[in-house]
Amino acid sequence: MTSIPIVGGEIDASELGRTLMHEHIFLRSPELQEAWPGFAGWDDDAAVAVAREKLTAVKASGIDTIVDMTAPGLGRNIGLIRRAVEGTGLQVIVVTGYYTFTTLPWPMQFNGPGKLFNGDDESDDYLVDLFVRDVQEGIEGSGIRAGAIKCCTDEPGVTADIGRLIRAVGRAHLKTAAPIMTHSHAGSRRGLDQQRILREEGVDLSRVLIGHSNETADVDYCIELIEAGSYLGFDRCGLAAFVPLETQLETLVALCRRGYSERIVLSHDVSCATDWWSERDVRAALPDWHYGYIQQNLIPELLERGVAEDQVDAMMRANPRAFLGGGARPG
Ligand SMILES: [Zn+2]
Repeated sequence: MTSIPIVGGEIDASELGRTLMHEHIFLRSPELQEAWPGFAGWDDDAAVAVAREKLTAVKASGIDTIVDMTAPGLGRNIGLIRRAVEGTGLQVIVVTGYYTFTTLPWPMQFNGPGKLFNGDDESDDYLVDLFVRDVQEGIEGSGIRAGAIKCCTDEPGVTADIGRLIRAVGRAHLKTAAPIMTHSHAGSRRGLDQQRILREEGVDLSRVLIGHSNETADVDYCIELIEAGSYLGFDRCGLAAFVPLETQLETLVALCRRGYSERIVLSHDVSCATDWWSERDVRAALPDWHYGYIQQNLIPELLERGVAEDQVDAMMRANPRAFLGGGARPG
């Protein structure tokens, strides 16, 4: 029995069901909304209504659980999340950590090791404590606990602050046992940097999920990450902005054929409502990028290409359960 926190309670890992491992309910810009209320047409009530409708449809489509990967840095707000989720029947796991590709916000820089407000302390303990608080006590005093810890490494690579962030996330994981789920840039093989640093911090890499690993034709890179122990997030399914969908599909099929499906999970990385872009424009430019793509398009295509039903089921159900539940590494 492994208890997993969700919005509105806790569930056993066996209750996760079909799970999308990297989605977003809201992507928002609190500082812009505070400075220019209604920036980009954003309205809290309208966004909540749209999200409730979409999450209800996701549940009706046969998905039981999503992980909302909206960490601070992406406008996480637990009150809005709670309003969006309540009554939809969908189980939602929320996360902590921090989202940036380059630098941490100024206060976190000034409070860094040996910095102005951190005196002679050579550690990032206070950063670790923020993440631990979200996992152990709950987010923003809501009592809703984070179920995973997130860090990012994109094309700019391991900058000084990204290195600090990965290490702080690793240390928060060691204190809480909450799994680590990353944003990475597969084209520049950033997942290997994340594994290296987390391994240095003493993290068991089977507790690490390297996200956005679908955006590559480099099957050997994916195998290297899996052989080192991690799960891979094929979690931008339907998103053709960076790598053609056919390439992503071929990578996934190749990994399944070679027996690696037990270490892969699926998701879309879509949001229900955002002030980042116009939903209408995105749907026009990226028509396959929506909450229904995996079930409506991807799974039938995988079966067509010879991926077995039980492999698909593992990616949707057993692997999320094993990873989030902290189960022993199979095989
Ligand atoms: Zn994301």
